[in-house]
Amino acid sequence: MKTPITVLGLGAMGTALARAFLAAGHPTTVWNRTPGRSPELDDLGAGRAKTVADAIAVSPLVVVCLLDDASVRTTLEPAATELSGRTLVNLTNGTPLQARRAAEWAAQQGAEYLDGGIMAVPSMIGGPAAFVLYSGSPVAFERYQTDLAALARPQYVGSDAGLAALHDLALLSAMYGMFGGAEHALALISTEKISPTAFTGELLVPWLTAMMASLPGIANDLEYGAAPGAAGSNLAMQAAGFVNLIDASEEHGVDPLLLTPIRDLLDRAVAAGHGDEDLGAMVRLLLKTAG
Ligand code: NDP
Repeated sequence: MKTPITVLGLGAMGTALARAFLAAGHPTTVWNRTPGRSPELDDLGAGRAKTVADAIAVSPLVVVCLLDDASVRTTLEPAATELSGRTLVNLTNGTPLQARRAAEWAAQQGAEYLDGGIMAVPSMIGGPAAFVLYSGSPVAFERYQTDLAALARPQYVGSDAGLAALHDLALLSAMYGMFGGAEHALALISTEKISPTAFTGELLVPWLTAMMASLPGIANDLEYGAAPGAAGSNLAMQAAGFVNLIDASEEHGVDPLLLTPIRDLLDRAVAAGHGDEDLGAMVRLLLKTAG
């Protein structure tokens, strides 16, 4: 028999996770704070537990996917003793510190702990493009990675429980930066009679896809230093051109608030003497700001 699995939380994501486990043939027990959510899971063969403790008691592998860290704590704490000897996989979005604290708490209850970052939206779960980052107990990952693969490609990033969240939040930062830029672009072209759909399909997506090719160069610069003469698009040039993005936005009645922090960082890089360098210098400047 396949590993019995409990899923705590039947929001959009928890429901997709439970569906994927059921589709892979796992006996799946579900619990949700508001009873009766996602009734289609009953037809697919899910067992419904009345309490969190009952839900945990029937499976060696417990997957929790709730709104945030606080909801995970208030949900699990009353049922803590049931966790002894089980593996808790927390797929709730959170910070590295929250993950490390959850790992410590789980260890105190006698449970193995894996923290996870889901790199997918619910409709992608069970499909080929989704992956989930895991960190924490290597023993738990070794034991359950095949079962967890029913959700998405599992990628283990280290025994420090905080590392999945760190990678997850870094990837989400990049995604939101890209979406923010796209939102600004769509606002700008919407001020004229241009089809946003055509603009996106014919120009925006190909442009962003082509620009992805420069990311490894930025990473390489950060890790090993810039190769001599590598700055084909030096920061002084970029700062001079960036002013046009702000001015045109103002002229077209588009709020430049998503762009002004980038202009400020470019200006700071040039003022600090990095005008002849490439975008790796911007990363170093951010690190200095944080430090
Ligand atoms: P939803 O808003 O659809 O569902 C939230 C879930 O959390 C519900 O089951 C809700 O229960 C439960 N919940 C909220 N507060 C509490 C509480 N105080 N105590 C107990 N249960 C609570 O969110 P998603 O399912 O979409 O997201 C769940 C997690 O997955 C989040 O951490 C999210 O960041 C992460 N995630 C989501 C993605 C997505 O695209 N949806 C992508 C990647 C990660 P109730 O039904 O009772 O309200």
